[in-house]
Amino acid sequence: MRRDTTTNRHRFAAWCGGIVSALMLAACGAAPIAQTAVPNPTATTAPAANVPPTIAPPTTAPTASAPTVTQPPVTTDIPAAPTATVEAELPVPDCSGLTPAQTEGPYYTPDTPERTSLIELGMTGTRLILTGYVLDANCQPIANAWLDFWQTDDEGEYDNAGYVMRGHQFADANGRYQLETVLPGLYPGRTRHIHVKVQAPDGPILTSQVYFPGEPANTSDGIFDSALIADVQTTADGLIGTFNFVINAK
Ligand code: FE
Repeated sequence: MRRDTTTNRHRFAAWCGGIVSALMLAACGAAPIAQTAVPNPTATTAPAANVPPTIAPPTTAPTASAPTVTQPPVTTDIPAAPTATVEAELPVPDCSGLTPAQTEGPYYTPDTPERTSLIELGMTGTRLILTGYVLDANCQPIANAWLDFWQTDDEGEYDNAGYVMRGHQFADANGRYQLETVLPGLYPGRTRHIHVKVQAPDGPILTSQVYFPGEPANTSDGIFDSALIADVQTTADGLIGTFNFVINAK
């Protein structure tokens, strides 16, 4: 009898549970409109009728202190395409002779930071990608070649106290390098140029300069060498200059 009583209790409880569940389901069926009345603390305006009742707050909602600039840290003069999208096609290297050496000039600073982009927050100028290969005299790529670039900013000023517009990098396994920078400005007595030192691992250092085509001052600059003119193309990403360095590897 105790077993029967227990069974009956279980049946009664199950029946009650079913009734409660049914009531809850009925209540839930009528509940969604009630949920829309729950205030969303993140909403600034009342939700539209067709907006889901619970709107998760955006995880990246801008705040007064959050950075508002999501583009590269450059001015509007510099196209905002990310560096990663720039992958210039390079012609088959022409290794007709070693890259001519040029004077270092008075503005070299050693121990530059390692970086492939010289562009920093707030800079102005025309964005320039300078890319190419570092090759030996047999036109073979020199993996891990060291390249140290320095130049003026857009206004023709060198930073002789710090490392603005200065940086070194290493060519990849195919001997390729890529520098992101701005077109250097002009200063008295010189045409537009970028200074560079290039060195194969354990090889001698070549000090030289890279020039730009069509510059009026190319003809009046006594240091200028037409063998050092980069091939410059205008693209949607800005200017892309290609120049291959052919150096002694040993
Ligand atoms: Fe210079």
